[in-house]
Amino acid sequence: METLCKLCRSNEATPKSHIIPAFVTRSIKRASPTGYLRSPYSPNVRVQDGYSMPLMCGICEQRFCRAERSFANTVFHPFCQDDHDTFDYGPWLHYFMTSLSWRTLVLDIPTMGEATVELQDIARNACERDRKYLLGDEAAGDDIEQHLVLFGGPLAEVLKTGEDLIRTGPHVSLRCTASGYVTWSNSLGSLAVVHNLAGVFCARLIARSPHEEWENSEIRSSGGKFAPPQRIKSWLVDVVTQDLADDMRRLRDSISDDQRSAINASAASRPTAAAHRFHRADEQIKNERRN
Ligand SMILES: [Zn+2]
Repeated sequence: METLCKLCRSNEATPKSHIIPAFVTRSIKRASPTGYLRSPYSPNVRVQDGYSMPLMCGICEQRFCRAERSFANTVFHPFCQDDHDTFDYGPWLHYFMTSLSWRTLVLDIPTMGEATVELQDIARNACERDRKYLLGDEAAGDDIEQHLVLFGGPLAEVLKTGEDLIRTGPHVSLRCTASGYVTWSNSLGSLAVVHNLAGVFCARLIARSPHEEWENSEIRSSGGKFAPPQRIKSWLVDVVTQDLADDMRRLRDSISDDQRSAINASAASRPTAAAHRFHRADEQIKNERRN
């Protein structure tokens, strides 16, 4: 049975659409001390490397290319390489972030069975609005709330709290992994799509809780300037840090001795890999805690 493209709904979808963009997984592989994505330095838990499925047709994939390239060159690579956190952006940033959150919404809405009926409706409406925007309805962009947080800023501070998280090595686990999912709180009536792209956090706020504060993180659909400092107070920070701690614990429990020695050997042979920069940052937090 042929699968129709979820975006244009007229052409047949190609067998493989990436959810996490390919340049992100390539960059993680380069940073990983083993050169492989699947390593304790890059567990990539929720969305696997090359996790792909029939989602879009070739023409619709092309629609996303330009915004993706601008994001890679202006935001992602400069941040990964030297923690660069200030840049001007055009409409492409909001468009890119929406292309990302829309893909994850399409995939995750069928798994929202435990959410309230209201939240499920809100998710479906948001998905449809995002689809129109991605197909060229620029006015729809005004109602799509996107936030960008770089792990060098407030999130790094947040991650210094909580013994559980510190033990897992938050720098390594955030900056050598990529994941994305829909998350919600029935009691708060809030709903969001979050992505971590190697320390670049993208949050699509669909239904906000009354107590959230996001300063200096909103990305305008018309473009703007991004610069620190950022300040975030949101239920999402708890969700993301708790998930991270759980994922890392599971991963740590599943590593064999052989895998561990292979990693140690390659760490010794590739001391400049970016993962080691992050590893040192984690060791520093642990030491600060001890003293
Ligand atoms: Zn299409």
